[in-house]
Amino acid sequence: MKTTLLLVTAVVLAGCIPPPRTDNYCAYDRDCTNVIDRDPVNVVRQKLAISRHTETRLDNQCVDCILADATEILQAENGSGDMACSVRLVREGDVTEFNTGSGSIDSKADFDAVMRLPGDVKLVDEINWCGKYVVAYGCARRGESLAVVPIAPDMAGILWAHEYGHVRGRPHRDADSALMHKWVNIRNKKVDRAECDAFRKKPDSRR
Ligand SMILES: [Zn+2]
Repeated sequence: MKTTLLLVTAVVLAGCIPPPRTDNYCAYDRDCTNVIDRDPVNVVRQKLAISRHTETRLDNQCVDCILADATEILQAENGSGDMACSVRLVREGDVTEFNTGSGSIDSKADFDAVMRLPGDVKLVDEINWCGKYVVAYGCARRGESLAVVPIAPDMAGILWAHEYGHVRGRPHRDADSALMHKWVNIRNKKVDRAECDAFRKKPDSRR
């Protein structure tokens, strides 16, 4: 199968409106370091190595809060048709930095270069290509990793969980309020059993 067929187009914005630029995307007013200690024993922990382009800002505390929010969305039952999914996304090691590229993904070559970098989550400044020329919040490749742009705290957990769903092989699902809906939205938090199974399944191998 051609690599391009494995591309999962992510969060597409209508009309090519750029993602909102904000300096407050790490403005979490709580400590998310120890939330992991409160998990029940049956929770599957997925460890994610996080890397950021030098032009972006992201620290361990910020990542821990984003992953805590993503986990809360997955674990909670957000209304009918949503599974309480027993999984936790956790940071593996410190946030690392890369200077490959400009921080803007503008072509397949740019995306490939970011995908080749070590790590599971890559924070870049802009995404203007995701399988085609399109402005997106995030873009993921199945079985590999995901790229995201800085986004407001109330959206970051949803975005990261959505893109990780793509990494674990889940396509878009156009059900009401689905986390995997093609439009990433603050209301979209529901996962079905197949999605939960994918989130809980351990990756076959570590890169
Ligand atoms: Zn998507």
